[in-house]
Amino acid sequence: IYTSHLPHLPVDHCSVFTKLLASRGPDDVGGHPGSWTAFVDAGSGTALTRAQVRKLALSFAYGLRDHPSTRPLSKRGDTVLLFSPNSLAWPIVLYGCVAAGLRCTLANSAYTSHELGYQYKDSGAQLVLTSEEGISVVMQMFAELGLSKAEAENKIVVLRNDLRWAGGPPVAPRREAAAFCSLEDLLSRGASEKEELFDGKLSHETVYLCYSSGTTGNPKGVETTHNNITTLMDIITGYPQPPGDIPMLGMLPFYHIYGVSNVLHHPFYLGVPVVIQTRFDPVQFCANIEKYRIGFAYIVPPVLVVLARHPAVDSYDISTLEYMLSGAAPLGADLVTLVQKRLLSKRKPGSTCLITQGYGLTETSPSTHMLDFTSCERKVGSIGFLLPNLKLRLVVDDDGLVDAEEGQPGELWVHGATVMKGYLNNSSATKNAITPDGWFKTGDIGRRDKDGYYYIANLDSGSKKELIKYKGFQVPPAELEAILLTHPDIADAAVIGVDDAQEATELPRAYVVHANPSKVKDAKAKAAFEQSVVKWMETKVAKHKFLRGGVNVIEVVPKSAAGKILRRHLRDLAKTEMAKG
Ligand code: AMP
Repeated sequence: IYTSHLPHLPVDHCSVFTKLLASRGPDDVGGHPGSWTAFVDAGSGTALTRAQVRKLALSFAYGLRDHPSTRPLSKRGDTVLLFSPNSLAWPIVLYGCVAAGLRCTLANSAYTSHELGYQYKDSGAQLVLTSEEGISVVMQMFAELGLSKAEAENKIVVLRNDLRWAGGPPVAPRREAAAFCSLEDLLSRGASEKEELFDGKLSHETVYLCYSSGTTGNPKGVETTHNNITTLMDIITGYPQPPGDIPMLGMLPFYHIYGVSNVLHHPFYLGVPVVIQTRFDPVQFCANIEKYRIGFAYIVPPVLVVLARHPAVDSYDISTLEYMLSGAAPLGADLVTLVQKRLLSKRKPGSTCLITQGYGLTETSPSTHMLDFTSCERKVGSIGFLLPNLKLRLVVDDDGLVDAEEGQPGELWVHGATVMKGYLNNSSATKNAITPDGWFKTGDIGRRDKDGYYYIANLDSGSKKELIKYKGFQVPPAELEAILLTHPDIADAAVIGVDDAQEATELPRAYVVHANPSKVKDAKAKAAFEQSVVKWMETKVAKHKFLRGGVNVIEVVPKSAAGKILRRHLRDLAKTEMAKG
């Protein structure tokens, strides 16, 4: 059993809201506590100080409980679904819900009504907070769930693009938004709420429900507790950070725990100003770095592909960007070197451009490993050290009886206070993921070198996970397989991930059995059918789940005697097919 080389840290047992506000930030700029900038909307430049964030979050919490339109929420522990791209409203809404004692389930803002409906029902949400752009999807979701228009309208609060509540410029609402209760309506109730406290034992209550398929199966609600989150906040504080209070760019999606924790929680807690970008776009990314003199960004590997190749990098001054931390997917050492070379060639000799990485899962709230900026040049490709307060095993067998020899690969099993409570209403999935003595099985294969640095070795040693990651987004094969089986011409299906080194990501690729094989005997007919399935899928799922790795008709899906898809066979098949071109 491995522990961190860093000292064990004392942790608080309190509500996420209490912890966030117990910040160590530079609280007294000009003698005014809370007057430092916490969040900035990149588009309009509208900024909120820490004191404003606190006040607005508490009045939002009050409005949520007091307003007639939000009556579906009746008690502490009720669930709110957030469906919005990144925006300045996020910290207010998220912190406000937490202050009101509610649970938040966070949904990908690109979801279709069907995908959203699955999460809405599964999480038991009572109210939806949506962006203006999301209203039509939410209304369609409620229609599909059998609610009348009036019933649906009563369950929606709209986060308008108008930022007047934050002192920003007025923006006329979309026509369809006018009918709904808005964030501004809730803020205008005036009074401010006393935060709900989750101390001691209560700190083990669930606060967030992000969705993850885990190692296998469909997306499941991950029960992240106050204690999971606050422990990670304490742990991160003890870990080497980029220096000073240089502004950070926040463009990781906030619905993912990686964005919640590293963009919405830690910087606020540590006193680092965050510039919020709605979603990743190469030109906006470079323009915002120039405009706001950004020094640090959490990223995913495909952002480095942009930095290595995109022309926008030459059109803007991004020389302030000295630190990047990549996570959520494997990071290639060659890509890191390529980016450093390109960026440093435009900077003065001796300039800094450090790219490091972290590792974790939704189920571990999320980070378990981080490579600090002082080691990242020596240990390119490593995910770094185990974070303090955690224990780790590298397990060789399925039963957890044998640990790997030093330097050898094994499945990463994690133990500690950041491991989720379990999957919501799914005790069998929880049992498969967490042993009775609390070890969480990540499904990832890794190894540890003699200096205590860890490496993910899924590519060489074969991960136990079915999960596909497209640019850091989860693509659960089981979900796509279930959809493919509803296609009238498909008798069986399996989905795997294939590597696209150029884009530094995996691509979902489907193998399907035609219900009437004689129809696809001819090569042209087969190719046409495969293409039609790719297009058909695009009408069913959010963009990141499109079958970008292609569709291939096969005679039979390889399965074990127990009926389990033999994904490794398919991965080998895909490699051979790709090699042939
Ligand atoms: P998620 O729950 O969406 O954060 O996905 C977690 C999964 O992402 C892990 O189980 C890994 O397979 C993958 N992952 C996260 N960080 C890394 C990393 N630094 N290197 C390789 N894979 C990673």
